[in-house]
Amino acid sequence: MDADAAEHGTRRRHHGVSPGEDGPLTTIDRALLESRIRDVPDFPKPGIVFKDVTPLLADPAAFAHAIEAMSEAFCDEGIDKVVGIEARGFILAAPVALACGAGFVPARKAGKLPAARRGVSYELEYGSETIELHDDAFSPGDRVLIVDDVLATGGTAAATVELVETLGGEVVGLAFLIELGFLDGAARLSGRRHLSLLTF
Ligand code: AMP
Repeated sequence: MDADAAEHGTRRRHHGVSPGEDGPLTTIDRALLESRIRDVPDFPKPGIVFKDVTPLLADPAAFAHAIEAMSEAFCDEGIDKVVGIEARGFILAAPVALACGAGFVPARKAGKLPAARRGVSYELEYGSETIELHDDAFSPGDRVLIVDDVLATGGTAAATVELVETLGGEVVGLAFLIELGFLDGAARLSGRRHLSLLTF
C-alpha cells in the first residue's frame, strides 16, 4: 500500500458514511476530492472541459467523504426526500438519502419516467432539455434536498427547483460535488441554500 492509499485508508476508518458515527465532520477534505476529479477537454464537444467524477466514485474513501459532507450539511434539516438529477446525481443522491433517513426521488430526462409525470423545459447552450418528476413524488410539504454532480449554468438545477415546488415539495437546499463558478449558476438558485464541495 502506498502512502496515499494508507492515508486514505485511515481517513476511511475515521469517517464512515453514517452521519454522527465518528462525530461531526469539521472540514471538507477538498484536496482528496479534487485529486479524484478528472478534467476531460473537448467532451462532449469542443471547448467544454468535462468534469469526470468516475475516479471519485471508484475511490471508497473519496466517495464516502463526499457523501458524508453532503449529509452532514443537510440531514439535520429534517429532509423527507432527496432528489437526484439524471444521471450522475442519482449516484450521489441515493446514499445521501439513506444517510438522512429520507426517500430517494429520481428527476429524469423527458420520457423516462413510467407513471403520470410533469416536466419543466429549460434552455441549454444549444437547444433545450426537459426534466421530469412523477406527479406523486412528494407528500404535501415534504422537505426536499436536490443533489447533482455539477452546477454549471444552473439551468438544470433551477428547473428542478421549479418542478419540486410545483409538485408541493419545499426545497430546503441543493448539494453539488462541483460548481463551475465562472458560469454563475448560483445566481439562478434565487438565494436558496446550496453547498458545493469544490468550486472551480
Ligand atoms: P447546467 O444546467 O448548465 O447547470 O448543467 C448541469 C448539468 O450538466 C449537470 O447535470 C451536469 O452533470 C452537466 N454538466 C454541465 N457542465 C458539465 C461539465 N463541465 N462537466 C460535467 N458535467 C457537466
